[in-house]
Amino acid sequence: MKCFISCPVKLSKKRRLEGKVALITGAASGIGEATARLFAEHGASVVIADIQDELGQKVAASIGPQRATYVNCNVYDEAQVQQAVAHTLHTYNSLDILFSNAGIMGSTKGILDLDMDSFDNTMGVNVRGVAATMKHAARAMVGRGIRGSIICTGSVAGSVGGTGPHAYTASKHALVGLVRSVCGELGSYGIRVNCVSPYGVATPLSCALTGQSVSEVEARSSELSNLKGVVLKARHVAEAALFLASDESAFVSGQNLGVDGGFAVVNHSYSTVN
Ligand code: NAD
Repeated sequence: MKCFISCPVKLSKKRRLEGKVALITGAASGIGEATARLFAEHGASVVIADIQDELGQKVAASIGPQRATYVNCNVYDEAQVQQAVAHTLHTYNSLDILFSNAGIMGSTKGILDLDMDSFDNTMGVNVRGVAATMKHAARAMVGRGIRGSIICTGSVAGSVGGTGPHAYTASKHALVGLVRSVCGELGSYGIRVNCVSPYGVATPLSCALTGQSVSEVEARSSELSNLKGVVLKARHVAEAALFLASDESAFVSGQNLGVDGGFAVVNHSYSTVN
């Protein structure tokens, strides 16, 4: 009898972004850096866009000049975003993937002491900044007929309250709405728009928030995690972004892919009463 089940593809050996060009914001550090490295390993050319020039240039140099370049870009400033997209097109002659990942935690003050300028700043980087990157990347893709992939970095704070400061939580909820809305418009151009939403990863952002070391953040994160036996690393989030960037997710759009071990969908109160 003929077997119609094809052999499983060995994903680890296959270069899944061969010939693609990716613009990654917030790629000088943490999740963005890990993603830039993974995308390059999979054959993509990457533009590292960040405000930490020295660190961003070091990351680009360590990936290699043929594969990566650095551009200074504060996503809050639309003109700089436009420039980063122009730099990408000028350097690599395409833009297939936008990973809009730059984000800040902002003020941790409670609602009674909320600083409105700080609130605006967090929303400005985490939402307005992402919208600006979507706008200019989409213009480039639509203008060139590129059926690209746009991915944003959300958070478990985008679906569960009490997991981050107010402005941060509001900004990450807003991102999920932005992704769904833009997915609706760009679908007709063949452009996919998705979100990856991590649980706590030890990066400079989370270490600064808690004032803890990498191992302390990881220990605390593992303790509170729903999924035991795996410590979440930036690389795990990068793997999810790789899936959404690659042709393996060719019909996946408008999704908020949790990289959270089930944290955002499980409430353990039932199991504690049994
Ligand atoms: P990180 O601090 O290591 O990296 C963030 C990068 O963004 C830095 O390189 C920083 O310079 C850059 N950046 C900040 N403001 C910018 C701006 N205005 N323009 C351009 N670049 C800017 O932190 P990370 O944890 O890797 O954060 C990446 C994303 O992941 C953020 O959107 C964050 O909200 C999200 N996230 C992080 C965690 C976590 O636990 N670390 C969990 C969920 C979501």
